[in-house]
Amino acid sequence: MTRTSHIFETKIPNGPSGDPVLYCLSQKTGEALLFDLGDLSNLSHKEILKVRHVAVSHTHLDHFIGFDRLLRVNVPHFKPFELSGPSGLIKNVQGKMNAYCWNLLEPGQLEICVHEIDESGTVTTALIASDHGFVPVFQTRAPLKVSPDDPPLPNRPAACVMVLEDGTRVETIVVDHGTPVCAYMLQSPSRYYVRDGALDAHNLEAGSWIREVQIAMSDHETDKVFEINGQSWRAGDLSGKILNRVQTKPLAYLTDFIFSQQNLARLRQAFCGVERVVCETNYRTTERERATQKKHLTTKQAALIAASLGARELETFHISNLYADCVDQAQDEAQRFFQDFHGLDSEQLSAAIDSELRITTRFAG
Ligand SMILES: [Zn+2]
Ligand SMILES: [Zn+2]
Repeated sequence: MTRTSHIFETKIPNGPSGDPVLYCLSQKTGEALLFDLGDLSNLSHKEILKVRHVAVSHTHLDHFIGFDRLLRVNVPHFKPFELSGPSGLIKNVQGKMNAYCWNLLEPGQLEICVHEIDESGTVTTALIASDHGFVPVFQTRAPLKVSPDDPPLPNRPAACVMVLEDGTRVETIVVDHGTPVCAYMLQSPSRYYVRDGALDAHNLEAGSWIREVQIAMSDHETDKVFEINGQSWRAGDLSGKILNRVQTKPLAYLTDFIFSQQNLARLRQAFCGVERVVCETNYRTTERERATQKKHLTTKQAALIAASLGARELETFHISNLYADCVDQAQDEAQRFFQDFHGLDSEQLSAAIDSELRITTRFAG
């Protein structure tokens, strides 16, 4: 039996119209991940110290200015961290490091692993470390572990760029904003729970072995053998008798791109089936021409994208300062569109997308 479950608590610390940042805290490990590095002053020192992975969409000022605070909090603690983002990120991080004087660092004090993804999905990894004078050391790394039954979303062309401690994968594709931008999806591995009455049905006593079997299943060690009450069991067999696999809900983080045929096709190929979409709506639908010129989205376009990915939830952010006096109305507008589009069948939704594309193509023209 499959259910779905949220693994991450999320918050947008700067609110719907501040610098883009999405803070995601794993309820399982207490580890945090950041999407984008806008102003981080609304996150506490303690919250930032939990961050070991940062998924950057692109390095426009409002998405990257928080790098310095992340660095400032981490330097005294000798804590390495990983960043992913589009081509150019390695150079951008190196530039940030070269902006400061570092004569008092101790050996091994600062290590930043940077993953760049190009439009073909190729990932380039470099270590930028104090021990090497922040000159990037390019690395070859083994393919990241992906199990045969996780991911449940088929035929996804997205590159997996980072894996968190709990096995959650950060996957990305590149979309167009006049500059390459990473759109992301967070996909956690399935979790295993004891089925009601299953222990009694098989004359098994509860014990610490249950947790160990759950871990073995999460790590795909189905052949691992457990001794329970003098009897040998394979983890896979035991799981089939007493555990339910619970599929987790993928989350997509989408910001800063133009509503175009190509971007939509890429997103649908890679992220179809996500549960929740966190998406920018820089402009209201009446400002469609301006949105197209600035290569951003409107409320209606964000709703069309979320509906076309099959999402059940849309959260909007990165709302332009034009709407400083009416942020709620801009958010409500996006939700109204989403409710309308969510109820359409696929043919009606395609027609709504085509109609919107015809207009934006004319503006882009
Ligand atoms: Zn932006
Ligand atoms: Zn931008």
